Amino acid sequence: MIIIFLGPPGAGKGTQCKVLVERYRMNHLSSGDCLRRERRNNTELGQQAQSYMDKGQLVPDELIVAMMMKEIEKTGVGAGVVLDGFPRTLGQAHELDRLLERAGKNIDAVINLQVDDNELELRITGRRSCSGCGAAYHIVFNTPRQENICDKCGQALVQRSDDTAEIVKNRIATYHKQTAPLVDFYQKKNILKNLEGNAAIEKITANLCRMMDEMITV
Ligand code: AMP
Repeated sequence: MIIIFLGPPGAGKGTQCKVLVERYRMNHLSSGDCLRRERRNNTELGQQAQSYMDKGQLVPDELIVAMMMKEIEKTGVGAGVVLDGFPRTLGQAHELDRLLERAGKNIDAVINLQVDDNELELRITGRRSCSGCGAAYHIVFNTPRQENICDKCGQALVQRSDDTAEIVKNRIATYHKQTAPLVDFYQKKNILKNLEGNAAIEKITANLCRMMDEMITV
């Protein structure tokens, strides 16, 4: 099963993708995580991507497509895979279609997590993660017992460098301009499924699982 998770930055795609990994044993491929790994390893791609990411802009299609094609081939499309943050432009979507066609595979569903813009900013700027184990926190919705310290491993919490207020505004604007057209693109292919994302996390997860169970039993 191949699923694409679509939605603006801060909608909670990563959180819900974890559910697909844990409950449905799917592989999770996040283009943002892949890029952050490239940056940590100081690769040529990581260096090329840095200036775009730091401004809240999209990394050029040719770089992202090459990286994601390699990642998808490594994971294998035979196993269940959920794509998180890719594709993000119509050009990327067409490239993905070409790759899947060559492999004789189809996208089973595109889950469109919908969240209002004013909610996104609050969600993103409050996000923190553990520098040691990567556990996720939020300064309002999911606080650690001790300020800025991870409950699980005691390491310091950090904020992603592109989660600051001014960069977040750019990321949301970029989403509307370059990624939102994909909603229409996949709607026309009849594979779009809208998931209300303004609700509490548990409610979104319950609705996602219902959606998944329906797809699996069809
Ligand atoms: P994310 O973690 O998905 O919010 O991605 C963080 C940043 O990585 C984005 O703001 C972009 O600069 C870059 N990025 C991630 N995925 C893509 C993509 N599919 N196309 C272009 N840039 C991307």
